[in-house]
Formats: sequence, structure tokens, C-alpha cells
Amino acid sequence: MNKTMKAAVLRRIGAGLAIETVPRPDPGPGEVLVRVKACGVCHSDLHAVEGDWTPHPTLPLIPGHEVTGHVEALGEGVADFNKGERIGVPWMFWSCGICEFCLQGMETICPRTEATGYSKPGGYAEFMVAPAAFCGHLPEHVDMHAMAPILCAGVTTYRGIKRTGARPGQWLAVIGIGGLGHIAVQYAKAMGLRVAAVDVLTEKLNHAKRLGAEVLIDAREGDPGAALREKSGGGAHGAIVTAVSPRAFEQSVTMLRPAGTVSYIGLPGRDADQIRLSISSIVNSEITVRGSNVGTRQDLNEAIAFAANGLVKADIKTQPLENINAIFARMKKGEITGRVVLDIS
Ligand SMILES: [Zn+2]
Ligand SMILES: [Zn+2]
Repeated sequence: MNKTMKAAVLRRIGAGLAIETVPRPDPGPGEVLVRVKACGVCHSDLHAVEGDWTPHPTLPLIPGHEVTGHVEALGEGVADFNKGERIGVPWMFWSCGICEFCLQGMETICPRTEATGYSKPGGYAEFMVAPAAFCGHLPEHVDMHAMAPILCAGVTTYRGIKRTGARPGQWLAVIGIGGLGHIAVQYAKAMGLRVAAVDVLTEKLNHAKRLGAEVLIDAREGDPGAALREKSGGGAHGAIVTAVSPRAFEQSVTMLRPAGTVSYIGLPGRDADQIRLSISSIVNSEITVRGSNVGTRQDLNEAIAFAANGLVKADIKTQPLENINAIFARMKKGEITGRVVLDIS
């Protein structure tokens, strides 16, 4: 008899997830079978089940790309994992390794890339398979639930900060202190940066302060760019936008000092995908506006190391898999603070 597993499955866009008993997958060559312990709920999962992005996810879909678990079985030829070892599976399920982007260490934008919980089944299930070469090794001592958000929120904010080029002692503006932003503040502090936190909710700014932000800017008041430039002695050297309001992306550019760089990592969605920027201020001040998309395997290893060493800790709330549709409903209303992590074990 074939083995089965419990999973949250999307059969049709807009239909919501159903908890089903489905066949347990077998690992192919180079793959591992992961016994899932925890899986974070990312805003991208909501975009996937609602069909907000083109191309749509592969159906039927099991979402989830912030996966931690243990190696249950090894496919043929897997040499770098052992049975029982702790493992993390990120959004980047696989990339080709031979295109011009992979060859330049930009595997995150490989045109042939496969995405966990989008084009391939993810971690809202008791088991999943993943290519061993794209998974992270997790140390024995880590809290598997707290570690789950590092697999997407962690690596994404970490790479975004790296791509600003800001150096220790310099200022970083973190715009949006939510599920991604509260992690970004901690990476920035651990990397020796001085943090200016920007949000529209006092409660979130206070959270950033407790995490070490030196300057707090309420973007509802006056000119937030001018306020940040004044309080940081000329503006931020780098900025990272995790918010989903287009206005936040526009304002971020005004928060930079000359020669500064902003990394865009938030995704507002199809209906709010356009912004207006001042060409002259970008040209005259040699500003850089760049995108940053999840992270490479090297970024993942570094992001995990910060968290495993206690320098970064996601603020999580654990929920059972069965609650997933209610979690999405709350996420849609913006009612979730920190990160929800599904307890699958
Ligand atoms: Zn994600
Ligand atoms: Zn490639």
C-alpha cells in the first residue's frame, strides 16, 4: 500500500485550501524527502492561492516555502545530507546552474528557476521533496519553529540589506516594520548598521525601537524623507522597502543621502504596481534603486548562521495547519503582526 500524508491543497484559484490526505512523494535522484516540522506563512503564499501573479501556480498546489524539518529519506546520489539531519527548504527550489545569471551568482533570477510552494509542492504538508543542493543545513540546537521564517523573510531581508552596499557604522532605513521589517532591523543591527525605522503604526515603531532602531519615523507625519535626513545627519546610506504601499517605495528614495542605494523587496501586488520617482534627484545625487529577490544559496547559508547564532529571531505565533484559511483571512486584513508559523509535526 502506498504511504499517504496530510496536506493543505489548492485545487482551483480562489477556492481556498482544503486539508486532504494525499500520496506521500518519493525523493528522486539528488532529492531528499523532508519530514516537515514547521512552515512559515508568507504573504507570497496568499498571492499564490489568490492567483495574483502570472504565471499562476502549478495546480493542484501545496503552498509553503519557509520549511524546516528532518531528512526522512535520501534519493539516489545525495551525499551532503544524512538521514535524520535538520534541513530548511527555501523559496528557490531549484535553478539551472548554466544560464548567464546562474553563472554570475544571480541564481535568484534564473529564467528556469522552480519555486517551492508555487511551481513545486511546498511545506503545508507532513512531507515534501526538495533538491538537496538547494536546501539549507540547520544546526542541532535551533528552534525549528523560530527558524522557519528565516528561510524566506530572513534570507530576503538579508540579501536586500547586502544589496544596498551599506557598511558597518552607516545608516540603513528599514521602511515597513512587519513580518519582513522586524527581521531586517535585527540583521542590520547584527551587521553593524545604524537603523532608522519607518512605519505608519506607533506600535510597530516601538517594536523596532526595542530591536535597536535609533531613529523612528512616522511616515504619516509631515515629510518623512526630510525628517529622516535630519535625524541621520544627511540621510540613509542604504534603505530597504518591505512595505506594500507604493507611496513607501517613492518616499524611500527621498530618505537616502547622495550616492545611497535602496533595495525594493516588498511586492504590493498587481493593482498597486506603479510608482513615480524624481529623475533629477536620482541623476544629480547618483542614487541607485534596485530590486532584490529572495536570496542565493550563499545568502541562505549566511542568513541561517546569523539566526543560529542568536543574532536574529523572528517574532512568531504557532498555529495548526487546519487554521490556514483563517490565517489568510487575517493576513488580507493586515491583522497579523510578526510571522505565523504552522506546526506540522
Ligand atoms: Zn516568502
Ligand atoms: Zn539559471
